[in-house]
Amino acid sequence: MRIGHGYDVHRLTENRPLVLGGVTIPSEYGLLGHSDADVLTHAVMDALLGAAGLPDIGQQFPDRDPAYAGISSLLLLARVMELIKSAGYAVVNVDATVLAQKPRLAPHIPAMKDALASVLGTRAVNVKATTEEGLGFTGQGLGIAAHAVALLEERT
Ligand code: MG
Repeated sequence: MRIGHGYDVHRLTENRPLVLGGVTIPSEYGLLGHSDADVLTHAVMDALLGAAGLPDIGQQFPDRDPAYAGISSLLLLARVMELIKSAGYAVVNVDATVLAQKPRLAPHIPAMKDALASVLGTRAVNVKATTEEGLGFTGQGLGIAAHAVALLEERT
């Protein structure tokens, strides 16, 4: 078994959709980025790549490459899953936490878990959300951060 960790941050801005875990969430502000800026899915991908000992998403999907402009991060996650399988691993479980002051994410967590599970090929995916009590850049509503850990096992 191998464990991996992923962490990502994206800035909040006007006139962008808020996509977390593949789910578009009604919000006054969205996340800025080259892809759909799905910070949760990005953290999950880096956790998976980290566990497999593979280069991170910045190297897999460079933000200078127009092929990835506005792309759904769930499509990138599907490519990461191909890399993980090619490297000889299967997902045991994934656990993630989103750090956001607003909007309230709890009502959307089941949909995020479903969307991630459909690409990961396992129901063993957990998503949690917390505020940071008004502290720091997430607390001030400047951005959203996400942490994820993934456990892989060698495929038999
Ligand atoms: Mg990112």
